[in-house]
Amino acid sequence: MSYPDADALVVGGGLAGCTVATELARAGRRAVLLERSKAAHHKVCGEFLSGEAIHYLSRLNVDLAALGAVALRSVRLVLRSGVVEEKLPFAAYSLTRSLLDEELLRGAAVAGVDVQRNTNVETLKAENAAWWVSDRDDRTFRSKDVFLATGKYDLRGFPRPAGTHRGLVAFKMYYRLTPQQHAELGDAIELILFPGGYAGLQPVEGGRVNLCLLVTGGCLKAAGSKWAGVLPYLERNSSYLTKRLNGATPLLESPLTASRIPYGHMQASSSEGLWHVGDQAAVIPSFCGDGMAIALHSGAMAAHHFLKGDGAAVYQARLRSQLGRRLAIATRLSQVMVAWPGAAQVVKMAPGLLSFIASMTRIPDTALLR
Ligand SMILES: Cc1cc2nc3c(=O)[nH]c(=O)nc-3n(C[C@H](O)[C@H](O)[C@H](O)COP(=O)(O)OP(=O)(O)OC[C@H]3O[C@@H](n4cnc5c(N)ncnc54)[C@H](O)[C@@H]3O)c2cc1C
Repeated sequence: MSYPDADALVVGGGLAGCTVATELARAGRRAVLLERSKAAHHKVCGEFLSGEAIHYLSRLNVDLAALGAVALRSVRLVLRSGVVEEKLPFAAYSLTRSLLDEELLRGAAVAGVDVQRNTNVETLKAENAAWWVSDRDDRTFRSKDVFLATGKYDLRGFPRPAGTHRGLVAFKMYYRLTPQQHAELGDAIELILFPGGYAGLQPVEGGRVNLCLLVTGGCLKAAGSKWAGVLPYLERNSSYLTKRLNGATPLLESPLTASRIPYGHMQASSSEGLWHVGDQAAVIPSFCGDGMAIALHSGAMAAHHFLKGDGAAVYQARLRSQLGRRLAIATRLSQVMVAWPGAAQVVKMAPGLLSFIASMTRIPDTALLR
């Protein structure tokens, strides 16, 4: 079955896809968004919303407070040799992705986007000066412009390179901490370093906490290659995290996992009419907590250039010039942190270094679309 032509097809309805589609619909374009999920679901993500992410969410009329987002005020870096705490240099929140992504999809539909859920795109090909997209149910969609917003999933025939920091495996789990541990965590995001990886721990709405951790393949092997072995590994290697999780109740049957994450990937070029947004455009190491901001920013930038009549290549080059250096710095830092966690001790000796690192690895203020 063939679907009426659209001004733009957006494949993937996460942060980047919803942003492009909403911006285009607001400008009067017929945007069709194809999202494979049927309903709200969890995603592997630390769920830390940086200042830049909040900026773009407010452009999309997302009311974080009304959704129950938790305000975060400080960052705690937990090293073997002690803890360094600093106030966050910007307002930050946390909100579960199952809530946030649904709100964005709802907002897109309100803006006039033709949102097609339960639509699993299988093929994308260029033919007769147009892009053809087919889903698992053999429905066909056609447009001159396609926005590739499938996040960590690559469409067949469009693989991203492996990135410059590969081999990390991610786990995400929600917990209910004991009241004492929850109070001690307070309104901080904790970044806990251990040999072979790092973990982010922060409160989210509903009195829960999000534990998101990244471990190397070697570390996972040492842990018996399964989650059941990861917790004892952490117990042996991080007394801090062990204390936090002591008496905690896991709230998911099993953790969500992700592997083959191409950290450091920055899309270099583009075919005519094919716009890479979100994780399909750039993948920043998770410790920065800025991947969602980049997804939102790239979506807004892509829509901006599309509406100006620029080609996809112009947008892609602009994004690269804004983010390339920051992504490279963040990726190098992540490599060092994982390989030599002791090196992070330098932060203890230089007050303000955490904020400086944050400023060097985020989207520059001047690049944000107002
Ligand atoms: C371990 C980890 C921790 C992180 N922590 C943070 C953090 O704390 N803060 C932060 O800002 N960022 C964080 N990130 C990064 C952030 O999660 C991503 O950068 C962001 O989700 C990318 O958004 P996106 O729109 O590109 O993709 P997504 O949000 O993943 O959306 C992609 C959408 O495409 C859909 N899709 C995929 N394939 C198809 C298909 N074939 N057909 C139709 N639909 C499809 C999916 O269902 C999904 O809804 C983290 C990442 C990881 C791995």
